[in-house]
Amino acid sequence: AKEEGKNQYRFYESSLSRDAKQSMDIKNSLRRAIERDEFAVHYQPQIEARSGKIIGLEALIRWYHPKQGFIPPGSFIPIAEETGLIVPIGERVLQMVCAQSRAWRQAGLPPIRIAVNLSARQFSQKDLVQSIKRILDDNGLDPHDIELEITENMAMKDEMQESLQEMKDMGFTISIDDFGTQYSSLGYLKRLPIHKIKIDRSFVNGISKDPKDEAIIMAMLLIANRLHLTVIAEGVETNEQLAFLQDNDCEEIQGYIFHKPQPAENIAALLAEQAAK
Ligand code: C2E
Ligand code: CA
Ligand code: CA
Ligand code: CA
Repeated sequence: AKEEGKNQYRFYESSLSRDAKQSMDIKNSLRRAIERDEFAVHYQPQIEARSGKIIGLEALIRWYHPKQGFIPPGSFIPIAEETGLIVPIGERVLQMVCAQSRAWRQAGLPPIRIAVNLSARQFSQKDLVQSIKRILDDNGLDPHDIELEITENMAMKDEMQESLQEMKDMGFTISIDDFGTQYSSLGYLKRLPIHKIKIDRSFVNGISKDPKDEAIIMAMLLIANRLHLTVIAEGVETNEQLAFLQDNDCEEIQGYIFHKPQPAENIAALLAEQAAK
């Protein structure tokens, strides 16, 4: 039994160091990826439930590693956050988004608001708000063109609340991502300067399967309505989910049922088609 225990320990140790090594590898290749500009942004349309129109886009980072190919954000964003590399990566994403927005406008497409994800770690950057504003100015964009998505667990620190207030005052739309999945969400609705909540996919997924999820969604919609907040449901995949959300007056929908995230060229075509209608 002693022998066995020892082996188990060895196994554990080696799998730990394998994880540590893998995370080191990702860290090093992330550094290189920033230098070599291996990132792209895909855009997922957000649909107004009432009209079926595209009324916004969410920017989602894509990393194409020269050898390993596509690496999903779930595998590297947490490491970028731990190492602080999320700061330059976040700036790069915003730059790409702003440049894209300007290009679409120059091509004669109607302006559309683009939502960008912010990590908690980015709020520890002292000049976050100024840095965001500078990138917008460089591209002739206004804060009204950009929505900032934050997750509720990050909104606890006072400095963050100050930055958020500053962002709201400047004209940015602020939304709470993955709403309801972290702690004490209702207190945030009271304290934080926000416009919009995003109902997390984990709740949407339970529609027509789990009455608890349906009850929670209905309660969220009720509260948001009374607080004059916009609600968008994310991860909507089925007609049943869509029908339930529409019946309960959810204003905006994002999910594969309408569009997957896709490259800018495809989005331009969709926007042009919509403008021609
Ligand atoms: P998120 O912000 O919650 O983004 C929504 C995720 O759900 C995206 O995954 C999107 O592709 C996926 N999705 C959208 N509609 C559906 C659907 O109908 N069904 C299913 N199954 N999935 C759907 P993605 O692109 O892999 O991004 C994962 C996460 O990585 C994001 O979750 C976000 O937390 C983070 N992320 C992505 N881009 C950025 C970025 O530029 N900056 C930061 N800080 N985080 C980012
Ligand atoms: Ca998001
Ligand atoms: Ca989300
Ligand atoms: Ca999420």
